[in-house]
Amino acid sequence: ANFTELGLISPLLNRLTELEYQQPTPIQAQVIPSVLVGRDLIAGANTGSGKTAAFALPILQHLATQSDRSAGGKGNYVSGLILVPTRELAKQVADSIKSYATHFNGAIKTVAVFGGVSANTQMLALRGGTDILVATPGRLLDLISSNAIKLDKVKTLVLDEADRMLSLGFTEELAELLALLPEKKQTLLFSATFPEQVQTLTQELLNDPIEVQL
Ligand code: AMP
Repeated sequence: ANFTELGLISPLLNRLTELEYQQPTPIQAQVIPSVLVGRDLIAGANTGSGKTAAFALPILQHLATQSDRSAGGKGNYVSGLILVPTRELAKQVADSIKSYATHFNGAIKTVAVFGGVSANTQMLALRGGTDILVATPGRLLDLISSNAIKLDKVKTLVLDEADRMLSLGFTEELAELLALLPEKKQTLLFSATFPEQVQTLTQELLNDPIEVQL
């Protein structure tokens, strides 16, 4: 399949051409159509598999094609929430998303928040809400406590590198965050390995998921 056959819209297709992505990676070919139709999904994926585009492209497409967007509007809400284990990954994922969104001409706002730096700049960046938030769990909880962001209107949740997130000791933070999310949402879980902790999380969180294993 090519990217057009996966159902992506032209602002994204044009950007992929510029980036010289000639065809979808195997994980993209399986994940993109399922996410576009709104299914929950669990995928076994390593770095280098193209997993970032696999979840980022359909999330961007949802945001670009839906009218009831929250950013720039009333509260400090977020629509697409991507939880990652490390600050390096948070920056990297947010940069990729911003790059894929180039042809939406600034209509989609993406913010990364992570620990180890002052929260002030991140709080300012979140003012008025954001469309996509890439976050490490601890800093996100801090920002929620200070009312910088609210999770009540999350439509899509991504757990990226779920196994690393749990092995780095984010289990409690994750449980706290998940309790703040609305019941009705789309959830995508990516993990390189599937230890018992990840399987438990999957059972608690995902609703009739499509399973993608390469
Ligand atoms: P990731 O696994 O998401 O960290 O992506 C690994 C690298 O592959 C990144 O540098 C992407 O820009 C690149 N990439 C992702 N999808 C494709 C594709 N379909 N064709 C060529 N390069 C890609």
